[in-house]
Amino acid sequence: MTSPKTVLVTGGNRGIGYAIATEFKNAGHNVCITYRSGEPPAEFFSVKADVTDTASIDAAFKEIEAEFGPVEVLVANAGITKDTLLMRMSEEDFTSVIDTNLTGAFRVVKRATKGMLKLKRGRVILISSVVGLYGGMGQGNYSSSKAALVGMARSITRELGSRNITANVIAPGFIQTEMTDVLPQETKKQYVNSIPAKRFAQPEEVAQVVRWIASDEASYISGAVIPVDGGLGMGH
Ligand code: NDP
Repeated sequence: MTSPKTVLVTGGNRGIGYAIATEFKNAGHNVCITYRSGEPPAEFFSVKADVTDTASIDAAFKEIEAEFGPVEVLVANAGITKDTLLMRMSEEDFTSVIDTNLTGAFRVVKRATKGMLKLKRGRVILISSVVGLYGGMGQGNYSSSKAALVGMARSITRELGSRNITANVIAPGFIQTEMTDVLPQETKKQYVNSIPAKRFAQPEEVAQVVRWIASDEASYISGAVIPVDGGLGMGH
């Protein structure tokens, strides 16, 4: 085992974020999560924060740093969907998804990299989606927010690559969580048919890849987009 790292997973209270936090915890790391609502899971150091609110992010980092020191591994996972066809999509439908998924990632990355620079090492992992690269019916807002994370990771790589900081994107396909549970049965069937693996994935299958990309084994990978999609995006 490598020495314990301070890991922060935004939206780690449920779904993919919870699986990622659990994976790091089981590997012996100091795991912190942000949660926005409800009661947080007891097994992690949990801080309440909303990624659309810079002050709450800063307060969360202060709490974490006081307990564990600087965040070495940041997983920007918090995200929302507000699917609807372009003709019906309001400006608010568009900007609120961008504010959470893209600007939210920017807010936490900006705050986390300060500490990584001091620490002289760090890992930034942005949770995107196959939809960011592939597009999605009724997902102009979501797809745009997720595609932009690729540009963000690559710019961080160029800016901070020489400082022992890597930035990568994980692009999950269809994962069984509350986000996909709400899809109509017929839509799910159609998706499954189009996935070479012929199934949705479990959150743990994403979490294992995230843990690996943050590990010492992946120290020379940066600016990459790693699909975890059962072959749906054919490597993109
Ligand atoms: P869930 O809807 O199950 O969980 C979303 C998480 O994000 C929750 O913890 C939620 O907190 C948090 N969150 C949402 N908005 C905010 C906010 N403004 N501030 C702080 N936290 C917030 O989603 P998944 O687990 O399915 O998705 C996790 C990530 O993976 C997302 O970025 C999603 O886009 C991406 N993804 C998911 C796929 C899937 O098939 N499920 C496929 C590809 C990518 P709260 O509990 O308070 O609402």
